Amino acid sequence: MATITVIGSSSMDLVVTAAKRPEAGETILGEDFKSVPGGKGANQAVAAARLGADVYMVGCVGDDPYGEAIVSNLHKNGVRTDYVKSVSDTSSGTAHIILAEGDNSIIVVQGANKLVTPALVDDALPVIRESSMVLIQQEIPEDTVEHVSELCRQYRIPLLLNPAPARNAAESILANASYLTPNETEARLIFGETSIKQALEDNPNKLLVTEGKNGVRYHDGKKETVIPSFKVEALDTTGAGDTFNAAFAVALSEGKSLPESIRFANKAASISVTKFGAQGGMPSRDEVERELL
Ligand code: ATP
Repeated sequence: MATITVIGSSSMDLVVTAAKRPEAGETILGEDFKSVPGGKGANQAVAAARLGADVYMVGCVGDDPYGEAIVSNLHKNGVRTDYVKSVSDTSSGTAHIILAEGDNSIIVVQGANKLVTPALVDDALPVIRESSMVLIQQEIPEDTVEHVSELCRQYRIPLLLNPAPARNAAESILANASYLTPNETEARLIFGETSIKQALEDNPNKLLVTEGKNGVRYHDGKKETVIPSFKVEALDTTGAGDTFNAAFAVALSEGKSLPESIRFANKAASISVTKFGAQGGMPSRDEVERELL
């Protein structure tokens, strides 16, 4: 069984649906409210656990009710939370989302996610060293991502960096990662508008650019190639990238080839977009395998 350590963010998304957005100084009545667990780290941990991996999450929550709910949701989904630290006098990461007039406005408060430090990662070293793969994103401080990339290089543990949300990553981080999975926007920011083609060629079988419903583009050492996604009726694409990354990590950790792993991840992500919510649509192992037959 693959053991995957996910080092990253966790949060509670607080979602209000309203007929309109309030003006400055205005109070209006909303129509609906939901709190939904999220954060790229936690989402990817949940997706990997549903796909059958043994998953450790390394992260931080605040000592508030959201923190308890985040941890209990991870548990419920089979993620090990020994290295999710609850920090006092800190709020959990939250995203404050207004859905109005067919669009969303979001304020993200990083809260405890800012405290996912290199020292916190070092506490988890025993499980990191036993992992078949480490999975990391960019919703935590950059020096932590850099530290993790150094550790993975030092201990020869494959590192999958999902460079999301878009932010420039240090050269050393990019070099130490075994796999990079930006979407098109993130790839443009990291490699520059004109040089994605070159970047793909320079990083064969390592740089995978996800292109939404079109699938995944990479260079196989001989030529640039696209592995198409699966055609589905997409209801909500939130978390498609998280499901893709988790599934890709699970498949690689189990020894599947790169093209096979991309196909597996495309299938898992395509199932996830047919249901509402980031975690709501994340499929079980059985669902993916049934559909891949
Ligand atoms: P998000 O931010 O919405 O989570 P992303 O921008 O990080 O996603 P995308 O490139 O949009 O990443 O999607 C990741 C993967 O999810 C794609 O490579 C594909 O496998 C799958 N996917 C996304 N959208 C669709 C879709 N409409 N139909 C089928 N598969 C999809």
